[in-house]
Amino acid sequence: MQMFCPESPEQLAEALREAAGLRRTIRLGGNFSKDRLGGSICPAGVTLSTHAMKRLLQYDPKDLTVSVQAGMAWTDLERTLDGHRQMLPLDPGWANESTVGGVVAANLSGPRRRLYGTARDMIIGMKFATLEGKLIDSGGMVVKNVAGLDMAKLMIGSFGTLAAVAVVNFKVFPIPEESRTFEMRFETAAQAFGERDRILQSHLQPTALDIVNWPSGFRLLVRAGGHPRVIERYTRELPRAEIVNDSVWNEVREFTPRFLVDRPQGAVIPIASKLTQMPSIAQNLAVPFIARAGSGVIYAHHAESPQPADLGGAFEMMTKIKQMFDPGRLLNRGRLYGRI
Ligand SMILES: Cc1cc2nc3c(=O)[nH]c(=O)nc-3n(C[C@H](O)[C@H](O)[C@H](O)COP(=O)(O)OP(=O)(O)OC[C@H]3O[C@@H](n4cnc5c(N)ncnc54)[C@H](O)[C@@H]3O)c2cc1C
Repeated sequence: MQMFCPESPEQLAEALREAAGLRRTIRLGGNFSKDRLGGSICPAGVTLSTHAMKRLLQYDPKDLTVSVQAGMAWTDLERTLDGHRQMLPLDPGWANESTVGGVVAANLSGPRRRLYGTARDMIIGMKFATLEGKLIDSGGMVVKNVAGLDMAKLMIGSFGTLAAVAVVNFKVFPIPEESRTFEMRFETAAQAFGERDRILQSHLQPTALDIVNWPSGFRLLVRAGGHPRVIERYTRELPRAEIVNDSVWNEVREFTPRFLVDRPQGAVIPIASKLTQMPSIAQNLAVPFIARAGSGVIYAHHAESPQPADLGGAFEMMTKIKQMFDPGRLLNRGRLYGRI
């Protein structure tokens, strides 16, 4: 299999055009950590990696915007921002292994999704390369003017099945003045979710609100950020909580990959579960999980891939979009649900 590591968006576009012109199937990735560590490898004639495209293109701390090439390591981006007390609170679980393009294409997010949202809320512009060898610019570097960003939004979570992300522009956030983490332990999931409800109905606006069932029982983890007076309010309003080290969030962030590698067989959560079913699903899960309790997401290993029928009309729409970008099904063939 031929391997290409373009160093610029132009080279990336040209490599795609050439491979597509020869009707060769293409395996596209950044660091390929997903494949190396347990994902399914797309069979292909050509492998294209963006890992040599790692330049910081523009960073305006005063404007809270940054533009980077897709192959930059996620941790390098975090370090650059941290130097200016700024952040991109996506908290991807595989940060050490991941490129920016990999994080965006897999639409990874973490605990602080509760307050800051996901990649869709943070990306203000993008450049991507199509199989025709075109470079498409979508959005820009301005936080408020995001005209034309819809095309970029299609790339988020597309797992490299439509086009290759070359450059991503983000809006970034100031790191809060202070941060504190509170932990409450409960015997039942219903109690933990009950406390979650009480917090969400109060004036408190935690940056993260997760429920985990490890090492035992149910732990509600609350992360507060902001002015010291805001933090004090949490301490007053969560009297039965214990203050724990913020490093617990690294444990949460790294929990999923460890779990996936250690326990390849897990629990199956029906894909169309209702939000109100979260406590009973959590109570009955026989495997470790993380409930992103303020966002309605539970992470536990899914033993079977969801089938297109589980997705209703969404699968038909995905197939139409795939047809527009890649009618020959050359790019990452079989990646999504084994069908696209
Ligand atoms: C054991 C393990 C299992 C994982 N399982 C999952 C999982 O089930 N679901 C999940 O969402 N994440 C999973 N990940 C995490 C995630 O895929 C990777 O951590 C993250 O994407 C890694 O970045 P990377 O550069 O290595 O991406 P890669 O592994 O190279 O690519 C990941 C996906 O993103 C696409 N991609 C990468 N770069 C680009 C680009 N520039 N343009 C367009 N597409 C691109 C690839 O085609 C691929 O589909 C897993 C990670 C590990 C370690």
